[in-house]
Amino acid sequence: MIIYKTDDEIRAMKRSNRIVARVLAGLVPLVKPGVTTKDLDEYAEKRTREMGAAPAFKGYRGFPASLCASVNEEIVHGIPSSRKLKDGDILSLDCGVIFEGYFGDSSVTVPVGEISPEAARLIAAARESFDAGISRMKEGNRVSDISAAIQERVEADGFSVIRAFVGHGIGRSLHEEPQVPNFGLPGHGPKIRRGLVLAIEPMIAMGDWEIEILANGWTAVTKDRSLAAHYEHTVACTGNGVEILSAWEGLGDSTGNVMDKESLNA
Ligand code: MG
Ligand code: MG
Repeated sequence: MIIYKTDDEIRAMKRSNRIVARVLAGLVPLVKPGVTTKDLDEYAEKRTREMGAAPAFKGYRGFPASLCASVNEEIVHGIPSSRKLKDGDILSLDCGVIFEGYFGDSSVTVPVGEISPEAARLIAAARESFDAGISRMKEGNRVSDISAAIQERVEADGFSVIRAFVGHGIGRSLHEEPQVPNFGLPGHGPKIRRGLVLAIEPMIAMGDWEIEILANGWTAVTKDRSLAAHYEHTVACTGNGVEILSAWEGLGDSTGNVMDKESLNA
């Protein structure tokens, strides 16, 4: 069952998602050769708690960290470790929090130092496919219209869409109905209407879409070990169109230590 949100609930979800956006915006400048993914995880947890929220992923089905940090061929659910980032790596950061009962969820893939033009193209394609998907999130459209637009955009660049993981509804639970695949034919699935809140999250690969799960039981990698990228925002269908609740715009000093609670309502 899809849980449609009231305007008040969407405002609450905007607050939790602005915390996610602040954590990610603070993380990105820290991504450099020599930094460990554990360093980034520690920052994310500290920053999340400073803002009065709790990490959503830590302990979720036993996940051991606050942040998912997935390097190169790792698609999602990378476990932060003492692995040092190297020049030319690409890193997907996925952050989730819970604040006042509502979840926020957003991801971004970023370059480490100087990356290849192909890797940069992959990162851009993940974002552009998100943009293509959200352009189809209109009242009266169907959820698979988003899916089809993402797939079309990704495949136009010769990349592939991961099938094993999908976007999702989000609210008082991290994962709610409906599922939002990043592939499929348009015109299927639930109708999009006011109050629908989704985490739209293209996960894409430079090579084939088949995956493997590493021995840690979590980390998903491309079977052919080609590079993967991920881009995710929590978005809401409101009375005034679609709003990206986890947008970075207007965050102000996202790296400062003082959290202005008022600004969560901006
Ligand atoms: Mg996520
Ligand atoms: Mg998600």
